[in-house]
Amino acid sequence: MNEKNTPRKVEKLVAVKGMNDILPPESARWEALEERVRKLMHRFAYENVRTPIVEPTALFVRGLGEVTDIVEKEMYSFDDRLNGEALTLRPENTASVVRAAVEHSLLYNGGKRLYYMGPMFRHERPQRGRYRQFHQIGAEALGFGGGEVDAEIILMAHALWREIGLTDVELQINSLGQPDERNQHRAALIKHFEAHHDLLDEEAKRRLHLNPLRLLDSKNPAMQPVIEAAPRLLDFLGESSKKHLQTVTDILQANGVAYSINPRLVRGMDYYNLTVFEFVTHKLGSQGTICAGGRYDYLFEQIGGKPTPAVGWAMGMERVLELLKELEVGESAPTLDAYAIVPDASYLPAVMACLQGLREQGVSVLMQASTTEGMASMKSQFKRADASGARFALIFGADEMAQGVVTVKALRDAGIAQQTRSLAETAQWGKSLQSNA
Ligand code: ATP
Ligand code: MG
Repeated sequence: MNEKNTPRKVEKLVAVKGMNDILPPESARWEALEERVRKLMHRFAYENVRTPIVEPTALFVRGLGEVTDIVEKEMYSFDDRLNGEALTLRPENTASVVRAAVEHSLLYNGGKRLYYMGPMFRHERPQRGRYRQFHQIGAEALGFGGGEVDAEIILMAHALWREIGLTDVELQINSLGQPDERNQHRAALIKHFEAHHDLLDEEAKRRLHLNPLRLLDSKNPAMQPVIEAAPRLLDFLGESSKKHLQTVTDILQANGVAYSINPRLVRGMDYYNLTVFEFVTHKLGSQGTICAGGRYDYLFEQIGGKPTPAVGWAMGMERVLELLKELEVGESAPTLDAYAIVPDASYLPAVMACLQGLREQGVSVLMQASTTEGMASMKSQFKRADASGARFALIFGADEMAQGVVTVKALRDAGIAQQTRSLAETAQWGKSLQSNA
């Protein structure tokens, strides 16, 4: 307010570019997906882990690798204003989960299967399926070296697609081998790209001697032919790496899970070795990877822990939900059971005591609230009840209140007679209003 007490026009504040509000009814789809995932994780005996959104910058620099897209150009990093500490909004959650496992000795008596859900932050160009704040669901199996756990975690994602109704999701697998195999491949890669130096973009030229594997991950269309022709890591694998991949694919086959080997598949972080994989769809344009992961047996050491094998994946929630929309499948908002119609504000204490009893019985109830003019007319309340999608109207009229009852009227399920029920005894009839009883 200014001196004359008239409201001044205040500039409207909007969200940060690339960071989205998730609003109803869309948010109901998010909740439904999260609920499905919780049940799925429970069935596979993965336990929930929640790590801070802000971490020391060094965690990601050391964990993901200095010469990666994320660390070079996508991190939201800042210095803590009070103590100057270098901090970063997490761009992914695997490094944090590993940090937490080391910090709290989570693996003192064997492996640990964990999962998380939450926002991640990357400074990318916003477009369909690519945002600056986005959400991942991820699973990490820590302390397990066998290929059967790679297969298990892949089967878990596969099971999720089936349950939520996603079709046409393609599984691509590759092996990145072990460090010695990668070193041989690295030398061959450098030789190959040096021979085609004029075809490389500036970034590729810069990365060529720092981290040549990253060139394979380039999204520059002009470079795809030279990438296609590059030596394949698969051809450098020794017996044990090949056997590991075989273990994984044998189990997938036994489970009837279709996959293809994609020798060009490398992942955006340096921490991967052996198995890497992506679930890809063709329905989302160029942002087609909905879930990606692999084995990271050297990450623990990288951030100061004991050598510990591990494997995991992360799924992009926005992309999965977008795909569900595209395919016109998936769950919408749960229906409301009842709408409470209250003509007189003086009834509210008794009404609200009744509604509380109903909610204890699992009934969802939306109550008409007063305005500065008091309660709306019965007619207008009935209209709202209809528009709310509720299955029942609960009428708390003057006659009802005098007798200590409520009239229950079906709004949708035709053929159900109107009934009066005792206000005090909701335990005896509440459950009958519940849609998912
Ligand atoms: P892309 O190649 O699409 O950039 P990425 O390799 O950087 O993906 P990961 O770091 O492996 O992705 O993250 C796992 C998943 O998280 C991706 O497959 C994708 O579904 C999702 N994801 C990654 N970055 C974004 C983003 N900026 N916006 C929305 N979803 C994202
Ligand atoms: Mg990326």
